[in-house]
Amino acid sequence: MKYSIISRGDPFSASIVVELHEKLGLINLINDQDNPNIVITVGGDGTMLKAVHQYLDIIDQVVFIGVHTGKLGFYTDFTHENVDLLIEQIKNDEYIDIKFPLLSANVWTNSICEQYYALNEITLINAFHTQHLDVFINDEYFESFQGTGLCVSTPTGSSAYNKSLGGALLHPNLQAFQLTEIGSINNNVYRTISAPMIFPKEQSIILKSKDSYEVSLTVDHEHQTLKGYDEIRCTLSDKSVVFRQFIEKDFWKRIQKSFL
Ligand code: NAD
Repeated sequence: MKYSIISRGDPFSASIVVELHEKLGLINLINDQDNPNIVITVGGDGTMLKAVHQYLDIIDQVVFIGVHTGKLGFYTDFTHENVDLLIEQIKNDEYIDIKFPLLSANVWTNSICEQYYALNEITLINAFHTQHLDVFINDEYFESFQGTGLCVSTPTGSSAYNKSLGGALLHPNLQAFQLTEIGSINNNVYRTISAPMIFPKEQSIILKSKDSYEVSLTVDHEHQTLKGYDEIRCTLSDKSVVFRQFIEKDFWKRIQKSFL
């Protein structure tokens, strides 16, 4: 069995990394940063998001374990106090795994497609100019959007940026994804649905740009500038991320612990 550790890098996380290497070595696990079966993150949700993106190419071969070293994380179940229990679980092959789906976004520009996967969400934002785009649902025209941007989120991403935008919290057993507006303009000229929308997995949302402004595309913690695109096609993918839980925790317990 091979493992890798991704750390936030602060002194407290670094001390836990040293402890983990020592204890995982004692149970004969091999440190392999390139091709692990188990990825342990030490830090917060940001560290977990980075780790998931680092191992996207082998996502169906790895399981993620989060040790949080700050305030309680949404994706990180273990604390420094239960590192020994984590080691025991790995040694005895006893675990409670949970699967969370990834969103896929195909960005088409000049007949070239770039594919992205998000654990939380993708957003398309123009913070400086009004963004004009058409929204299609399954290739059927739905509405013309004017405003700052749009957010398309996964069920677990529903408690991240989506929640700040007034989106609904979505249980991850629902194979669905959500579209929320960011600063839409609604008046006598422009009109959008102005409500979060939830789509079943087999459907897709297509966003087609109607202006030539640059926009920011965010994929979880990553961002880039799109200097024009033809369309962005989003749907819930067949890929998912497997997380190892400290104790079995229903999604609503996870929400309650994180927010209340
Ligand atoms: P980060 O590590 O500071 O994370 C941002 C915050 O979001 C942290 O408090 C983190 O615990 C929390 N978080 C992340 N995923 C979550 C989830 N699924 N449910 C509940 N809370 C969650 O910063 P980062 O590395 O840049 O993280 C990127 C994430 O930050 C994005 O995926 C986005 O969801 C979130 N974000 C939120 C807003 C907002 O709410 N206005 C704006 C930008 C980004």
